[in-house]
Amino acid sequence: MKTLSIIVPCYNEEAVIETTYNRIKNVLTGLDFDSHIIFINDGSRDGTLSILRNISEKDESVKLINFSRNFGHQKAVTAGIHHCNSDLAIIIDADLQDPPELIPDLLRKQAEEQANVVYCVRKKRVGESKFKLWSAKIFYRFLNRLSEINFPLDTGDFRLIDSRIIQEFNRFKEKGKYIRGLISWIGFKQVPFYYEREARFAGETKYPLKKMISFASTALLYFSKKPLLLATSLGFITVLIGIFMALWYVFGKIFGYTNAESGWTSIMIVVIFFGGIQLLTIGVLGQYVGILFDEVKERPEYVIDEIVN
Ligand code: UDP
Ligand code: MG
Repeated sequence: MKTLSIIVPCYNEEAVIETTYNRIKNVLTGLDFDSHIIFINDGSRDGTLSILRNISEKDESVKLINFSRNFGHQKAVTAGIHHCNSDLAIIIDADLQDPPELIPDLLRKQAEEQANVVYCVRKKRVGESKFKLWSAKIFYRFLNRLSEINFPLDTGDFRLIDSRIIQEFNRFKEKGKYIRGLISWIGFKQVPFYYEREARFAGETKYPLKKMISFASTALLYFSKKPLLLATSLGFITVLIGIFMALWYVFGKIFGYTNAESGWTSIMIVVIFFGGIQLLTIGVLGQYVGILFDEVKERPEYVIDEIVN
């Protein structure tokens, strides 16, 4: 019998987690797989841990990985992938936005197409703010423009991966992980599966603006060097403007077509403009230096307090 793991990252999900477990369990019992659920408790500060502990004591097929603190969604999923050694794995959110009832469909699609990845594409998203929908839409298109590879649009981490992908994923040494991008990057046969994303079952989003920005900058900085190129071109253009201006004024002085004394405003504009460009480009450079700094430290990606089952 083939083995299947369901990877569920959880952060402050006491309102849904029991229902999530029941719905996943319900689906799994109808399947022809030796299946396990891996819950990763990402440093929840509410009752999530005790609920998960209860579940994993009663049900041996439930593995509980408890982080020492909150490390973030991507680290939680990473830990899940690191700890599953099954033939197939499915990554799914704990808030039931991605319906567990689709699991059999994903498995069927995988078997039909002999795919290594079945990634879920959202046809519709219910119950999310206009801001989230728009920012996501614009960001993913922007990212695709800048990065070397083309990512499928409107997908999240909800997907099925097989042992080949798991094996390759486990070779990634980088600590800043943008998982959906990395899985695309691995290649092999990846096929889409279309579905309608539901509203959060209960509780509220664990992705406030701050986390969204840090997620987006990991995606951008780890998958594109184009911002550096942009900084370089900006520098190049300003140098050209500078040379042109220098020539213009020198010849102006010689042939008397400029009146250089009354130039306070123009000097201020030039100083501020070039100062701005310099800070901007140093800032871009700084982002990449920051990444290097984080990566060379070689800290572990997450710390596990305990593993049950
Ligand atoms: N999550 C996590 N750690 C975090 C934030 C979120 O493990 O620091 C989990 C969360 O419990 C959920 C999934 O990641 O299972 C997606 O989070 P959420 O539903 O809040 O994000 P949204 O759907 O609003 O983008
Ligand atoms: Mg959600």
